[in-house]
Amino acid sequence: MQFKSNSPEDTQKIALQLLALHPKNRIWLLYGDLAAGKTTFVKGFAQFFKVNQKEVKSPTFTLLNEYEEFKHYDLYRLGELGAEIEESLREHINGDSHLIVEWPELIEEQIKAPHLKIYFSHKGGDEREIRLLEL
Ligand code: ADP
Ligand code: MG
Repeated sequence: MQFKSNSPEDTQKIALQLLALHPKNRIWLLYGDLAAGKTTFVKGFAQFFKVNQKEVKSPTFTLLNEYEEFKHYDLYRLGELGAEIEESLREHINGDSHLIVEWPELIEEQIKAPHLKIYFSHKGGDEREIRLLEL
């Protein structure tokens, strides 16, 4: 399944659509280059869960932003998995709230639980393609 986005607002709406289409899915892996719209997509989750969207930024230095309803990781700067991050991921993989991971390449092998993979790509200007990998 594939979407075209022409604005950050579109990208957030696509997040809402995917949440509606996959109400049981809890783990979301977001792939794609810098500025492709992954964090913007997470703002759609914030909208859905009524969390202040301004709080949603790339958790670049902390690796993790935690809200009651969802946990948001950005592993861009993570060179290798440390014990601490592994432990916190394990807890969230087995948890009840949504888990959303930007740059999930380092951890994807550990995710045995059901999940969705979403790929973001630049198409020039403000255009982005958002592709849900069909499993
Ligand atoms: P990532 O997390 O993938 O690095 P961000 O969501 O942080 O990307 O940044 C996307 C940037 O691109 C933002 O500055 C946003 O305003 C801009 N942008 C322009 N068009 C779009 C679009 N269609 N979807 C998402 N972001 C867009
Ligand atoms: Mg980001």
